Amino acid sequence: MAQANISALNQSPYEQQLTAGFGTLVFERRLEEVFRQRHRASVVFLLRISLLIGLLFVGFQAALDYRFLPAEFHRWSLGLAGGVVLPAIIVGMVLSARPQQPGLMAIGSILVTLALGGSFLVLEHVGAKYGVPSRFAGFLVITFYMYYLLGLLFWQALFTAVLLAGAFIATGFLGDSSAAGFVYKGLYFGFSNLVGVLGLYTLERARRMDFLRENALDFRVGHDGLTGLRNRESFDEKFDLAWRNAKREKKPIALLMIDIDYFKHYNDVYGHQAGDNCLKLVAKVLAPVGRRPLDFVGRYGGEEFVVMLSDSMEQYAVEAAEHIRSQIESLGIPHSGSKVSGVITTSIGLAHLNPGESERSKEGFLQLADEALYRAKDRGRNQVVRTMDEDKYIQTGMFRREVGQQI
Ligand code: GH3
Ligand code: MG
Ligand code: MG
Repeated sequence: MAQANISALNQSPYEQQLTAGFGTLVFERRLEEVFRQRHRASVVFLLRISLLIGLLFVGFQAALDYRFLPAEFHRWSLGLAGGVVLPAIIVGMVLSARPQQPGLMAIGSILVTLALGGSFLVLEHVGAKYGVPSRFAGFLVITFYMYYLLGLLFWQALFTAVLLAGAFIATGFLGDSSAAGFVYKGLYFGFSNLVGVLGLYTLERARRMDFLRENALDFRVGHDGLTGLRNRESFDEKFDLAWRNAKREKKPIALLMIDIDYFKHYNDVYGHQAGDNCLKLVAKVLAPVGRRPLDFVGRYGGEEFVVMLSDSMEQYAVEAAEHIRSQIESLGIPHSGSKVSGVITTSIGLAHLNPGESERSKEGFLQLADEALYRAKDRGRNQVVRTMDEDKYIQTGMFRREVGQQI
């Protein structure tokens, strides 16, 4: 059980989804949300061009009707183009402009399809009365247009196809065309949908696969393979960002450097494999500490971890550090090679300051935390030591003076 939890921490949500599969073309809720937003962003340009193409399509059709067909009929044709399709396309354009709400874009596309398909079926029905020959190929064009150009996802397209089929069947029963004509049309419409559905399923599966693979790769670049925590590169990047942010906003920032005590001995006694498992268990304790968006928990290297807390009072950081230390101790991982305890313990160096009010550089701040950690080791390990910015006389390279404050 513990083993299963450890590997879950180690795997990105993208890899978990890849392992679980997605035959139904739906991801778990959070991933699905991100995917839909990305999907919207990648198809919205094509959608807008396609809406204009749709407008051209009905425009040309209305012009041809006007030129070649009787006035009783072309009144219908022009009326539906201007009164139904044009407004639907305008609504579709407007709804496509909401990046945070991809669902609205889909509603717009469904509306456009229904407007196009519905008016087409009405024209087919009315045309029969005036001896206008059937132009059923147009309905099939609308079907493919809906599947491939309107940015609909598979299930949305299938839902729309069912609505179109309902409308087709309804007008078929109303219509004056022969039963045989209706059956042929149904056959072509049915097969068009089969092609559309299979094609879109394949296309969307490939899109989803790309999404998962790309993100899984990105995730790996920023995370440590063993513990699943963020890695050193990721820390450097986030630390720089948080530092500049704190400076600008005049908010404090806290750094905790966490180092496992006598870990070399642990490896010597229990073996490297056990050492790896121990690192994973410690990481599991640390992971939930970085709950807020600007907080950070990562593996700094080897058996050292780093926690960064943005905009938190010093007392909060001190309590968080002490909480981490005691939680790791109470994991109770036996460590007979330790000189301070019978179980795995950690030493934690804590630095807290307000970059906007301090002379210290980002690197200097990191060294403050490092120095506090050194002192925690020096004072007997398994403890938290904090260094504060008031210790102004500390200078890089002269850190070993008694300036820290044990808690
Ligand atoms: P101290 O209490 O002073 O921190 O002593 P220490 O033995 O923990 O420190 P030291 O820096 O001497 O040794 C760190 C050890 O951590 C050495 C190395 O074998 C071990 N280590 C570093 N990375 C890994 C890892 O990925 N897996 C395992 N199993 N061990 C690691
Ligand atoms: Mg150590
Ligand atoms: Mg170390």
